[in-house]
Amino acid sequence: MRLENKVALITGASNGIGKETALLFAKEGARVVLTDINDQDGESVAASIGKAATYVHADVSKASDCESMVAQAEERFGKLDILFNNAGIMHSDDGDAGSTEEAIWDLTMNINLKGVFFGCKYGIPALKRAGGGSIINTASFVALLGAATPQLAYTASKGGVLAMTRELAVIHARENIRVNALCPGPLRTELLMKFLDTEAKKQRRLVHIPMGRFGEASEMAKAALYLASEDASYVTGTDFVVDGGITAAYVTPE
Ligand code: NAD
Repeated sequence: MRLENKVALITGASNGIGKETALLFAKEGARVVLTDINDQDGESVAASIGKAATYVHADVSKASDCESMVAQAEERFGKLDILFNNAGIMHSDDGDAGSTEEAIWDLTMNINLKGVFFGCKYGIPALKRAGGGSIINTASFVALLGAATPQLAYTASKGGVLAMTRELAVIHARENIRVNALCPGPLRTELLMKFLDTEAKKQRRLVHIPMGRFGEASEMAKAALYLASEDASYVTGTDFVVDGGITAAYVTPE
């Protein structure tokens, strides 16, 4: 088991990547604190894991919720070793510079970027108390590419996550804290699929993916497991891209 005696906190753990990661981390021996705003799904994922998991309501855009989720992790399991800042949204009214309203920009930044900041603000002191640890921040392949299907606030927020990840990695490198960004490609989760609701819309995206398919949340969980574990002991400050080849492509196979 790769995470024996480790305690992990995952934000956005009720669905998608966060949920799959919670299940995998628990299977690998970790005790897991799942946090989200969707309490019903979060409670049910935690219950399916059993005693090694607990669910805590936490809206990552609220400083007090983030402070409290970290405190509850330490209270319940005695320490914190792994922090997965994963919660994020993609708003349907996020568009180009002309069409994106300030309120949508602020909402997206508050969850996707400030949420990662709050996770680190309160999580890093806990990791230090545990003697070090691993932070994984979920960014996206769109932080590395421009898309002609614009979601400007989302893309900018994920670019911010990459920049913040690098600086945190450098600041905390000598404290035995590794900080990496996970950059998923387009996934078959609710977050993206609610936008790609016709076959034609799906095909328009699939044509850009060399592997010719969307990724699975479970494939991101495996990447998060690697970054969380001792297998990644010399890995910090990276944009860890798991995208079916999309960022490597100019022309994709027919
Ligand atoms: P998802 O919608 O399945 O899960 C996201 C979870 O975050 C949900 O459970 C939701 O309730 C929670 N959440 C939303 N707002 C929150 C808040 N304010 N506080 C706490 N939790 C909140 O999506 P997913 O695909 O698993 O996405 C997870 C992360 O991966 C996000 O950061 C997303 O931007 C990123 N990502 C997704 C894709 C994709 O194609 N799905 C691609 C690249 C990056």
